[in-house]
Amino acid sequence: MENSSEKRDILSMNLCELESALEEAGEKSFRAGQIYSWIHAKKVTEFSQMSNISLELRTRLDKNFCIKRLNVAKRLESCRDNTIKYLYGLDDGNHIESVLMEYEHGNSICISTQVGCKMGCKFCASAIAGFVRDLTPSEMLLQIYEAEADSGRHIDNAVLMGIGEPLDNYDNVMRFLEIISDPKGRGMSLRHISLSTCGIVPKIYELAKRKTGLTLSVSLHSGYDEGRSEIMPVNRRWGIGELMEACRDYFKETGRRISFEYAVIEGVNDSAADAQRLYSLLGGMNCHVNLIPVNEVRETDFRADRKTAERFKERLLKKGLNVTVRRTLGSDINAACGQLRREQEHC
Ligand code: SAH
Repeated sequence: MENSSEKRDILSMNLCELESALEEAGEKSFRAGQIYSWIHAKKVTEFSQMSNISLELRTRLDKNFCIKRLNVAKRLESCRDNTIKYLYGLDDGNHIESVLMEYEHGNSICISTQVGCKMGCKFCASAIAGFVRDLTPSEMLLQIYEAEADSGRHIDNAVLMGIGEPLDNYDNVMRFLEIISDPKGRGMSLRHISLSTCGIVPKIYELAKRKTGLTLSVSLHSGYDEGRSEIMPVNRRWGIGELMEACRDYFKETGRRISFEYAVIEGVNDSAADAQRLYSLLGGMNCHVNLIPVNEVRETDFRADRKTAERFKERLLKKGLNVTVRRTLGSDINAACGQLRREQEHC
């Protein structure tokens, strides 16, 4: 390993890869488990802190690997509900956001999976500036580790609902999930993680085959192909019929009920006919509908308030659907993802 010209990003390596790298370098593979635990469980930020590793190996590790960090470029704390929003700076000068929220059942963090997004949803702040690049597994993990270090809170749950489309960065997201859930490292159960997608159908099938305990959230936002294609261009590639088929397969393979996200937009998707249409798609399916009053984004004229969402909820409840309106946290700090990054990058 001494010949490598660039230091390897050790936080992005799963345990198997670390074992192989150490074996190739003539080290005992059990050292990988010790190092893994230092960086993912004990969260050291320098090899010199690994007290059960010989000085010689620590020096060699330092020559060949790096333990990355994110820097907190901005931190906004809500005075209403303990929500903290982080704007993190990456090595290459890009920025991403995470939001740490406090619920009765513990702390939950919403993390980003890409810098920007290609999906172009009309109501979304992340879409306006377009796509820059995928995040690495370490950049996803570090959003959690740095927030824990900064806030002093233990994070129990993570949702992949920040900037980006996780299934458009599939390999890195899968690696992130492997590492975060490894009992030899951070050990966060995949049952405590939700992944939200706009509906990249082939990847939903791939994810289902992995049979993890992950919760899949699907951003639906309209039950009609025409209306959905209007606000979510991805629907022109994979329509609602194909998407529902993939969701049924996901449930069949994993036994995990799907959560459908529905941003209620006044005059766009909140009528009695929209409720009926949702019922015809989701009635009888083991799922949950999560309504979000659409967050107003400066450049769009989409509007809704809690009352509109509550009215739509009543319509769905009457039909027997399992539905809730998402609590709005951090409303005083612009906690909706994508907003802070845009201010920083002027994009
Ligand atoms: N790309 C993924 C995850 C990121 S977006 C996805 O599409 O699911 C996370 C969630 O926030 C999605 O349900 C998305 O549709 C929703 N969202 C984006 N902008 C919003 C806004 N202005 N108001 C309400 N929800 C929004």
